[in-house]
Amino acid sequence: MTESLTPSRDRLTELFLSLARIPSPSRHERAVADVVIRHLMELGLSVHEDEAGNAIEGDTGNLWCLVPGDGPDPHVAFGTHLDTVFCNGPIEPILDSDGVFRSASGTILGADDKVAVAAVLHATELLKESGRPFPSYELFFTVAEEVGLLGSRHMDERALRSPMAAVLDSSGPVGGMVVRAPSQESLHATFRGLAAHAGLEPERGRSAIQAAAMAVAGMQLGRLDDETSANIGVIRGGTAGNIIPDLCEIEGECRSHNDEKLTRVAASMVDAIQQAAAQTGVDVDVDLVHEYRSFALTSDSPAVRLGKAGISAIGLEAEIHSSGGGSDANVLNARGLPSINLQTGMMRVHSSDEYVTLDDLERLCALLLKLVELAPDFAPKAGAAQVDL
Ligand SMILES: [Zn+2]
Repeated sequence: MTESLTPSRDRLTELFLSLARIPSPSRHERAVADVVIRHLMELGLSVHEDEAGNAIEGDTGNLWCLVPGDGPDPHVAFGTHLDTVFCNGPIEPILDSDGVFRSASGTILGADDKVAVAAVLHATELLKESGRPFPSYELFFTVAEEVGLLGSRHMDERALRSPMAAVLDSSGPVGGMVVRAPSQESLHATFRGLAAHAGLEPERGRSAIQAAAMAVAGMQLGRLDDETSANIGVIRGGTAGNIIPDLCEIEGECRSHNDEKLTRVAASMVDAIQQAAAQTGVDVDVDLVHEYRSFALTSDSPAVRLGKAGISAIGLEAEIHSSGGGSDANVLNARGLPSINLQTGMMRVHSSDEYVTLDDLERLCALLLKLVELAPDFAPKAGAAQVDL
């Protein structure tokens, strides 16, 4: 059985370094996708790619494959993403003498999410090469996750057959998992006033900046309660100190674990914008975009029970978390595929201080092997999957 399979630290190091070295900013994942496809095909697997690349103006679609073991039906799907946040220059990933992967070139490391890609590839090669029976499972690799979960939102509906999923894309030490995440609305408002010389004929002008400022001042921002937050993060407008500005834009967002509260907060932000525009006599366009939907899996959920069992099987105590952000798990849960989001060991992601330890990479791979082995004990019957929203 799979318990005797031991991840190879050398092989994991080689895999992770080679993946991290390949640039793969969102919508430009082709090179890393081709490496993943080749790797899986060499293991005798058929890899599928959907049309998401065309839909989102990227060069690559989402990938998925069945890893057939005992029986035709997969019990669980493991998900990672191929893209990284924008990276200013080539990444030089190194394994330091203290057993920590870092970037030597002052860039991100891209452990988000390549540590997970390396772990799923190595776990799969170990299982395939062992020649021993193991339960069937699926892998999927999304694109453009970092720019609003675009890949998973465009993922082919027929892609996955598993009754539950584990996304491997949460930062923090292996052993933690996210079972609850908020909904998010993004907001963009453009105020259009009337330009005029500020000293010669100020009465002719209508200031778009003043309207935007009044709107922001009229909003409740920051942490609104234990499950809700709101922010205006960008304000942009004006051309010179002596010109009444005719254009000003603001961008912001709100998040909540409670969808009714989210709707209320978003509506109050839009109200503040419209009132300020009316008071200052400027026009305004407001765009509100629902980015992703919240989810909350209960402790009875098979995905949560599987996650906990796998983590304790590798000798750790499971830590259950609520996230402040969205991931592919939001999209999958909203589609009715119950999905947890596992911590992968990646730390300080999206910064030049990003790192992950080789110990955590090894633990992540060991955890995957356990999850494959244990999944049949927890998986609900195919077609009976329910998300507890
Ligand atoms: Zn990520």
